[in-house]
Amino acid sequence: MGSVGILALQGCVDPHREHLSKLGVASKLVKLPQDFESIEGLILPGGESTTMIRLAKAFGLWDVLAKESKRIPFWGVCAGSILMAKEVEGPKQESLMIMDFTAERNSYGRQLDSFEGMVQLSQRFEGHTHPALFIRAPRFSKLSSGVSVEGSNGDDAVFLEQGLHMVTACHPELTNDSWFHEYFVGKIRSLQSV
Ligand code: GLN
Repeated sequence: MGSVGILALQGCVDPHREHLSKLGVASKLVKLPQDFESIEGLILPGGESTTMIRLAKAFGLWDVLAKESKRIPFWGVCAGSILMAKEVEGPKQESLMIMDFTAERNSYGRQLDSFEGMVQLSQRFEGHTHPALFIRAPRFSKLSSGVSVEGSNGDDAVFLEQGLHMVTACHPELTNDSWFHEYFVGKIRSLQSV
């Protein structure tokens, strides 16, 4: 398979490259519209969603992102998931509307700005657990029926899938566990073989 793109405008980019290279998968940093030509999936990393939107527009990437989401799988991590949501609250902000849920920004409050937690996967994945960091994470709400909850932390849905795409409210790339990267790569491969 070709490379997996990582949107590299701002935020937590490098750890994704390391996980992918551990899996023997090439990655490409995406900063310009032409960078999409050679990628087969895209990771939208964590960081600061408001800044990312501003930069995506300045680099001419905003409309390209909306268009490319029709072609290749996207995985939005934290701020990346906020970019992909249909609606954003706390405060309101525009988004690419790629998946049908609402992202409530910074919803874990200040005391819990950052914590390491476990993601309990759905029965589809035999309920296995994997660690991730929650850093000023959003909460996901108003999920449409087309969105499936594939992982939770307590009562919160933190890993969602819809069609080609997936989002995690937390950062699995900041642990040594590559399960989410392996899963995303497998998703890209399975879509290519149909
Ligand atoms: N709170 C950030 C935002 O709203 C996201 C934080 C993160 O990506 N870790 O954009």
